[in-house]
Amino acid sequence: MSVQRRLEQVEEEIHAACERSHRSRDEVEIITVTKYATVERTQEVLDAGLIHIGENRAESGVEKWHALNGRGNWHFIGQLQSRKVKEMIDQFDTIHSLDRLSLAKEIQKRAKPGRVVDTFVQVNVSGESSKSGIRPEDTVNFIEELEKYSSIRVIGLMTMAPYAKDTEETRPIFRHLKELQQEVKQSKFSHAPCHHLSMGMSNDYEVAIEEGATFVRIGSALVGEDE
Ligand SMILES: *Cc1c(COP(=O)(O)O)cnc(C)c1O
Repeated sequence: MSVQRRLEQVEEEIHAACERSHRSRDEVEIITVTKYATVERTQEVLDAGLIHIGENRAESGVEKWHALNGRGNWHFIGQLQSRKVKEMIDQFDTIHSLDRLSLAKEIQKRAKPGRVVDTFVQVNVSGESSKSGIRPEDTVNFIEELEKYSSIRVIGLMTMAPYAKDTEETRPIFRHLKELQQEVKQSKFSHAPCHHLSMGMSNDYEVAIEEGATFVRIGSALVGEDE
């Protein structure tokens, strides 16, 4: 099925979720996760008017960025090894997986002079050992520590919920991230406006939107294999 056709279905769901939660559709941006998609398919995504592209590997993401002449806004959504920062930092606009100070230090070192990199702090709300991210209780302290890195701006928090057949089970995870965001905002850090929430994937984006997501990261529902 074409990306355009799938997008129409996803848009319907997004509109419905916004309506249920009395939110405006403009508060939610779609990041199309193209990590398993070819360059051609990613081109189709951009042609469908979807401007936010999500990739989770440095080499393949940068390769695709070049193949598409840097069209779109590129979001790094995967675990980021410090040694990979230098090869991807110039191509990616936003990093969704800041989860340790050593990574912040590397971003500071590698960002072009004058650039302030938009980042999300990844929080492991569910506590699953397989997921990366800081502990929820460390969020405010961790963000406070980031102040010394002048090249980093924390624009939001990011999390991944465990896969749940009944997506209602993901709601407490998303709600918890929203509460942490409120705490960060109350601290009024100038380096951490934290006005975004990156949460929700193909399986659970509707619940995430109801709980306040401003970026949903959607892969399979937009660019996955046809069933
Ligand atoms: C792959 C991935 C997604 C998208 O997953 P889908 O289930 O295909 O929508 C979102 N976020 C992250 C961090 C991912 O790695």
